[in-house]
Amino acid sequence: MEASSDRWMKCISTQGNIRGVAIQATELIQGMAERHQLKGQAVQGLGEAVIGALLVASYCKTGQRINLNVQGSGIYKQALVDAQPDGTVRGYIIEREKGESTSISKTEDGGDFGPWGEGYLSVLRTKDSDEVSKPYIGTVPLLTGYLAKDLSFYWVQSEQIPSAVGLAVSMDGDRVVSAGGFLVQALPGASAAEVRMIEHHISEIQSLAESVSDHSSPIHLLSQIFQSTAFVVVEEKPLKFQCNCSWERVQRALVLVGVTELEAILEEDRSAVVKCDFCSTEYRMSEEELRALIAQLRGASTT
Ligand SMILES: [Zn+2]
Repeated sequence: MEASSDRWMKCISTQGNIRGVAIQATELIQGMAERHQLKGQAVQGLGEAVIGALLVASYCKTGQRINLNVQGSGIYKQALVDAQPDGTVRGYIIEREKGESTSISKTEDGGDFGPWGEGYLSVLRTKDSDEVSKPYIGTVPLLTGYLAKDLSFYWVQSEQIPSAVGLAVSMDGDRVVSAGGFLVQALPGASAAEVRMIEHHISEIQSLAESVSDHSSPIHLLSQIFQSTAFVVVEEKPLKFQCNCSWERVQRALVLVGVTELEAILEEDRSAVVKCDFCSTEYRMSEEELRALIAQLRGASTT
């Protein structure tokens, strides 16, 4: 099997004023779509959220992880994605059910909202090793309903970094043809002219999806964005789906459900099935195991 070309590539202008990261994630998104048995627009919605979360994670410190949470009134209800600076990611999307009423208001400048509709997006940053420091959370309203644009607003509003984001997932039926994206940021010291030039180059990328599918390496995307601005690649990292759920975690979750509820499940279903939202793995607890757990919890509560 060929090695996956899914990766992010980070670079910085030789002047040190502008940094960027480009992502190629076609196989990753296809794999996640199959895992969750998604079709059509759900694949695109999850794909954009996953690539967006990876863009955020790419500028996290080692040991940190981020959680991107998008909630909207449009065709998508919610996406939750966990991503880490080591390039691992997991996540899921919930579509709005057909017939469920959706918002039809207009954006501030009178336009139509994108597929996410109105709502908000938040980025939670946590440290794995450090339980003491509080997680940092930045939340912004969705101004356009398009995830790429609203992520740009997130960086400007919540982190005060002028940023441009591009996300693209193109499909052939239910198959992902290409999936990728980029984030470009002006750092302190960047001149207005430099920022304008980068913005101009971005506006000239006719189809981000085409650019991603034509070239398996993100370097082509970076070259299109930076053009005559010299840059150096500072990091290249393969991307991978990874979920940290386990039988032990599921058992802990069942303990929290409580004896009374577990007895009701035993009575009704004779077994318990817990599905991990992030990876769609199903954990089954047999009648015997369920009885043993209840007995154990009863014992613990009487001693
Ligand atoms: Zn899982």
